Amino acid sequence: MKETVFWAEQTWPDVHGKIAGGAPVFLPLGATEQHGHHMALNVDVVLPTAICERVAETVGGLVVPTLAYGNRSQPRTGGGPAFSGTLNLTAHTFSLVVKDVICDLFRQKVRRIVVVNGHYENIGPSIEGIELALDAIGRENADGLVILRMDHWDLVRPETIDRIFPDGYPGIELEHASVIETSMMLALRPDLVDLDRSLHDGPAKFQPFDRYPVPSSDVPPSGVLSMTEGSTGEKGEWLLSDSVTKMIAIVRQEFSMGASDGNR
Ligand code: ZN
Ligand code: MN
Repeated sequence: MKETVFWAEQTWPDVHGKIAGGAPVFLPLGATEQHGHHMALNVDVVLPTAICERVAETVGGLVVPTLAYGNRSQPRTGGGPAFSGTLNLTAHTFSLVVKDVICDLFRQKVRRIVVVNGHYENIGPSIEGIELALDAIGRENADGLVILRMDHWDLVRPETIDRIFPDGYPGIELEHASVIETSMMLALRPDLVDLDRSLHDGPAKFQPFDRYPVPSSDVPPSGVLSMTEGSTGEKGEWLLSDSVTKMIAIVRQEFSMGASDGNR
């Protein structure tokens, strides 16, 4: 068997030994969601998984299976229910899955957990899942448990955003299936991107409120909320490298790990 950071690709004694050695455990949170005409449905799975893999390789961590179903896609951030292919969990279910995984990691003596989110609508329910886990474990009896939670796009340096968007950044909500995600996919999985098929309707102009049931006329028909023009694998590598570098620094600082810990 080859050396890997992926929890599910190892034997139980190997995982047992790494937990005993204090390995931080990364939980990527994804979604199966439309990403325009030019990308596969698994973008929100591929990106956080790949970032966790790179960070875990450096800090001696383990990556548990990515949650491939996300909290309900919304029109203003992911296109919503108007598209085939998107498979949603309710916020309630999503938060309970996060809670159960964290509680089971805790039961198995994992005390360093990093929740890495790749889907905008997972933000609230991932926080709720962590709080529910702490409710169940007990904040006073948590035996040194520390949980970090982050959204990978927040780890990108402002200089990199300025370099990619010299004419102004549309904001992360509108970046769905647009330059950031497309560039990162070109860097990681060019086989799942076909820019020849890309369609976009220009940056979406949403009202500052939601209406339910969602009128499908409000959502750009391409499923791309901003633009795909200007996406390149090189820009994707800048974004990945920022997120990975920042996450390594955060993990080392918050878990008091030295730079020599876990290097292989
Ligand atoms: Zn996405
Ligand atoms: Mn998404």
